[in-house]
Amino acid sequence: MATAERDLARGAAGIAVENPATGGVIAAVTATSPQEVGALAARARAAQPAWAALGFDGRAQVLRRAQKWVTDHADRIVATIVSETGKTHDDAVISEIPYTASALGFWARQAPHYLADEKVRSSSPFLAGRKLVVRYEALGLVGVIGPWNYPLVNSFGDCIPALAAGNAVILKPSEVTPLTSLLMAAAMRECGLPEDVLIVAAGDGATGAAVIDAVDMVMFTGSTETGKKVMARAAETLTPVSLELGGKDPMIVLADADVERAAGAAAYYSMQNGGQTCVSVERVYVEAPVYDEFVDKLSRKVAALRQGASSGPGTVDVGAVTSPPQLDVVERHVEEARRAGARVLTGGAARDGDGRFYAPTVLVDVDHSMACMREETFGPTVPVMAVRDADEAVRLANDSPYGLSASVWTREAARGEALARRIECGVVCVNDAQLNYLALELPMGGWKASGLGSRHGAAGIRKYCRQQSLLVTRFAPPVDLQFYPFRARTTKLFGRAVRLLYGRGKRA
Ligand code: NAD
Repeated sequence: MATAERDLARGAAGIAVENPATGGVIAAVTATSPQEVGALAARARAAQPAWAALGFDGRAQVLRRAQKWVTDHADRIVATIVSETGKTHDDAVISEIPYTASALGFWARQAPHYLADEKVRSSSPFLAGRKLVVRYEALGLVGVIGPWNYPLVNSFGDCIPALAAGNAVILKPSEVTPLTSLLMAAAMRECGLPEDVLIVAAGDGATGAAVIDAVDMVMFTGSTETGKKVMARAAETLTPVSLELGGKDPMIVLADADVERAAGAAAYYSMQNGGQTCVSVERVYVEAPVYDEFVDKLSRKVAALRQGASSGPGTVDVGAVTSPPQLDVVERHVEEARRAGARVLTGGAARDGDGRFYAPTVLVDVDHSMACMREETFGPTVPVMAVRDADEAVRLANDSPYGLSASVWTREAARGEALARRIECGVVCVNDAQLNYLALELPMGGWKASGLGSRHGAAGIRKYCRQQSLLVTRFAPPVDLQFYPFRARTTKLFGRAVRLLYGRGKRA
């Protein structure tokens, strides 16, 4: 029996993990108390030097084995994810497995390139002949704190580049969904990761706070509200943080868009994963000439969605609301909008019976005074608003505290790209949404209240490292001009050299 399963079978006091699609308790996981985190950190720190000493090739071997493990055991991982989130089998297969399998190979391959020594040439003549190098070294111990909506991608997924760089990791998954992280920690041991290099500390926010105190860097994914607390706590020890936070992603549909594709995409990207994706389509602005056609197509598609407990591929389209407080948020947003004059074209209520479900919902006649257009809903709802033109759409898209990602839909790709550049978001897709997440080469990070720093690309692994600059002088005279004692003649020479080098341009 694998360690993770032994943990679960033990039924020890701790976290009762629920299946949100059935309402049944499926496992009990021992929680790590805040007081225990220090000892875990000491173990991880003791294990880290040997892991770093394996070098890129040695670590890549483990990551490649893990890649094979993930594809060989995809069914088991999917079953674990589905059981603790209530998401559909298809959501787990389409989003969680391909990302993780590709990320394991990507970071194994790219880590040595992104973290290779960089030779730098200086334009300063004062440095002629000096060797300048930028290098990266693993920080030591990284704390990854994750949310419940993607227990594989947004918890274990962020450990991969940290491990590839040579760090040890303490992973603090959401207390709502700890099972997938425990499974992956056991899997990594099976694939040859030395003991204690990846330690899972299941627990709530207090355990998360203790992790912040114990590590050299925090990679946090979760709500903006908690992100602020994480940053404040990390400030006490000057621990660097990378924050991937909430969003209110706008979708802009221009009059010349392929309306069928745009409506299909709006239905999919607002309802996929039950709308519980940080980069879900959370609000839609449609140019007046195609508004009616778009709304008609979208509401038909959403009304046709099958919802329920997923029993395998293709059985349902939309799963459960994973976390109990989230259902309250969804209900509040829809009810407030309704009371303020919005119309519900389909859905609009929680479902009775077992499990926690909210019917896929389309809202129209909405405006920016409503929470459903301003706050993150994070559920299966899609509010749609008509706009006069693209300028109004961009203005409304930017009228938000968030800036995670956005999409623009038009047959004129160049115009779409020009509009994309005016949107205040870390990522903007034209005639697509969310797919950028699979481009591990492309940085992804929020602006404004959506985050700090980014994942993916070179910055996505360098953040787990200390950067060191080296200046090496091989050939030099016994005395440099600036050495003591100061001499008026030499100082004047410096002044003349500066004027000659930098002072020859025109003033205006
Ligand atoms: P959350 O902020 O409630 O919790 C996230 C994690 O933080 C959990 O593990 C929790 O136990 C921990 N935590 C809580 N209080 C803490 C504290 N004081 N110190 C340290 N850790 C603490 O978020 P959630 O409800 O689990 O997840 C949903 C949110 O995550 C949404 O807002 C969503 O947009 C966001 N999210 C963002 C991204 C992204 O990439 N930007 C990806 C997925 C989810």
